[in-house]
Amino acid sequence: MNEMIEQVAEKLRARGFEVTCCATRDEAKARVLKVAEGAATIGQGGSMTLKEIGVVEALTALGKAPARASAVDLFLLSANALLLDGRIVNIDGNGNRVSASINGPKKVLYVVGRNKLVDGGLDDALARIKRCACPPNARRLGKTTPCATGVCADCNVPGRMCNVTVVFDRKPTGIAAEVVLVDEELGY
Ligand code: SF4
Repeated sequence: MNEMIEQVAEKLRARGFEVTCCATRDEAKARVLKVAEGAATIGQGGSMTLKEIGVVEALTALGKAPARASAVDLFLLSANALLLDGRIVNIDGNGNRVSASINGPKKVLYVVGRNKLVDGGLDDALARIKRCACPPNARRLGKTTPCATGVCADCNVPGRMCNVTVVFDRKPTGIAAEVVLVDEELGY
């Protein structure tokens, strides 16, 4: 297992998160499906990571297709950046994904590939998001934001994707939260 994954797992636990470390995407998928066994309702935030590990397809085949809803037993998403000190950083355009990760579900489960780990501070996390996450997401979603061409221009256009930034210093009160760390590159 990647040393940085073990390091961040320890920091996340100290911040109140349950953590499962997985060597492969298949292990991560199995963990998500195990947690989902006890959930009658499942929601998700848009995530290439969830698609890449095949969990959305698998849940749909089980008759538990994740909805874009927050008042659910289990909400699935990824992180845009995970600092080695255990802080999770997510950005959002309209806030629906990040708000559901704070309040609404009984449990939130993040699936995070090693490519999301950032050795640095908040500025480094935000730089990573605008350099590595926003450009491919803009292209995938057909957006015309400047980053769709590859470089952030701190834009002020209607389709701006980074209107809201949320930093999790600790697990939010009142919900359960687990981070599944995967020693593979997943999502953006
Ligand atoms: S500020 Fe605009 S250009 Fe920069 S990452 Fe956000 S949406 Fe893209």
